[in-house]
Amino acid sequence: MVSALPSHNVPTHQRLTRRSALLGTLGLLALPASHLAAAATPATSQPSAVWPHASQVPGGIARLSLGPAAARPLAHAGEVPLLVVGDVLEWTALVGIPLAAAPGEASITVQTEDGGQRQIAYTVAPRRYREQRLKVAPRTVDLSPEDEARHERERAHQAAVMTAFSQPWPQDLRMRAPVPGRRSSSFGLRRVFNGQARNPHSGMDIAAATGTPVLAPLPGRVIDTGDYFFNGNTVWLDHGGGLLTLYCHLSAIDVKTGDLLKTGERLGAVGATGRATGPHLHWGVMLNRAMVDPALFLAD
Ligand SMILES: [Zn+2]
Repeated sequence: MVSALPSHNVPTHQRLTRRSALLGTLGLLALPASHLAAAATPATSQPSAVWPHASQVPGGIARLSLGPAAARPLAHAGEVPLLVVGDVLEWTALVGIPLAAAPGEASITVQTEDGGQRQIAYTVAPRRYREQRLKVAPRTVDLSPEDEARHERERAHQAAVMTAFSQPWPQDLRMRAPVPGRRSSSFGLRRVFNGQARNPHSGMDIAAATGTPVLAPLPGRVIDTGDYFFNGNTVWLDHGGGLLTLYCHLSAIDVKTGDLLKTGERLGAVGATGRATGPHLHWGVMLNRAMVDPALFLAD
């Protein structure tokens, strides 16, 4: 995948020269020690190793350079705050692009150090995802009035969960797969259940036997658990900066809201609860309230 950041196209020694020049112009000696540490360690400024891949399509991620600044800039897509990573020499906004986004021009707003605002434009390229036709229990497609009311309550509850935007900011953004197994390329599929068009598939399905442990792909805090009509037994993790992950159809939930998990800690087990055609993990990754392709975050 092609990086959106022009600085990746220049050789490392030129980047370092540019960094040294910027260190001078920024007057880094006046900055707190934590900033100096971040700026002085070249390893932390090799973004490809720790950031998700860029893919400027619906369901993808835009990596937009915000340039140098003494403090991490605030950036928004509409009203939604964005994940900003990097250091004093170059900050970068990682922007989740919703599956429903229209191809064409889009922009974010960045607060400037003098209290003003500037716009940064980017282009969303079109991407046509394949269609997938599935047969499931009729009651999970044509909902009874009771199920419809339940789903509406759960939808509103989960919409509130999705607004989480916490700190600390995530450090390493590359994730390990939450379960081993065959990862389908099912993200974004336009889904037709029992002949009826429904929302596109907004996560990655990983085939695994019921009971297979599901492990946190990054450090995170449990911000919601529940048994939901479509998603079945579900866990939401908050990794900071508006980066959330979602685990559905679990046979067991082993954590509770407020728990802090390290990378690789168990949160539950694979199952087939909710609307599922068989045991698998449905894994979702959300950035600035947009479900994006989890494959962009996988380390391998
Ligand atoms: Zn799924």
